[in-house]
Amino acid sequence: MMTINEELRRTFEMPGIRVDLHTHSNASDGKMSPEELVRHAADSGVVLLALTDHDTCAGNAGAAAAAATAGIHFVAGIEVSTLWRGREIHVVGLCVDEKHPALKELLAEQRRLRDERARAIGEKLESCGFVNAYEETRRMAGNNASITRGNYTDYLFSIGAADTPGKCFASYLAEGRKAYVKPKWCTMEDAVRSVRLSGGIAVLAHPRCYDLNNKWLRMLITDFREAGGEAMEVSGSMQSPADRDFLQVLSREYALFASFGSDFHRECKYISIGGCRIDAGAVNPVWNHEKFRLEV
Ligand code: AMP
Ligand code: MN
Ligand code: MN
Ligand code: MN
Repeated sequence: MMTINEELRRTFEMPGIRVDLHTHSNASDGKMSPEELVRHAADSGVVLLALTDHDTCAGNAGAAAAAATAGIHFVAGIEVSTLWRGREIHVVGLCVDEKHPALKELLAEQRRLRDERARAIGEKLESCGFVNAYEETRRMAGNNASITRGNYTDYLFSIGAADTPGKCFASYLAEGRKAYVKPKWCTMEDAVRSVRLSGGIAVLAHPRCYDLNNKWLRMLITDFREAGGEAMEVSGSMQSPADRDFLQVLSREYALFASFGSDFHRECKYISIGGCRIDAGAVNPVWNHEKFRLEV
């Protein structure tokens, strides 16, 4: 564990330096193992990386070890799926301690809910004619993986259910489609509380991805802050410069630290690891938070 000093802060803010605080490995629905992800990040010029798998910290130890080998800085993270006023909101935790009882308990319950939902999705896919859909998806994902609809997308694409992954998702797994199962998840407030209790910083993930108008977005940010949230993502993949500017302004207005990341799951045309940036002069970067700690 190391704290961050002035020199590192300056490094992270240098033009051209790559930082990524939102990524996935095959501990959830990413393609690469934590070790492969870290190597890919290092090869791409990333100097500071957080792994933020869906509802699991299982990849963090391996990623931290790989980061030490690769000579890059690493932050232990998580992305928790939550519910807020009936909507699905993602809470990223940075610098979390996965051994803390509050976080362990939350993630154990999320794991149970994920597996329960994955089985229910599997049953619905069975009735669409996909035999052993859950078992096959589980086999592809690995025994310990936190299964999301991303894993089901991979399975459906692998058996040729549609000609692109996007179409597989849209045809079967999207809200309102045949194999859609409404998730249960913990509340946004519970996720923020557990992340904080574990020593971490709660970050509102990709605020522009919830299809909220500005009034609702402001309500979300207000509730998130009241719950103890301390940062928000202001830059992500496939985002317009105008959106980034708007989120940067909101982060200042609500006195939230600014985080950012690609949401990398696999190599693809539109998303590159470390490819997102902030205007460090216009926001308060999350590495300025007193709790910001590096594993490596
Ligand atoms: P879940 O948390 O189980 O609802 O699954 C959400 C995951 O599905 C996301 O984290 C993505 O990895 C994946 N996903 C979401 N939308 C799409 C899409 N349009 N095409 C392919 N995968 C998607
Ligand atoms: Mn995903
Ligand atoms: Mn997300
Ligand atoms: Mn994500």
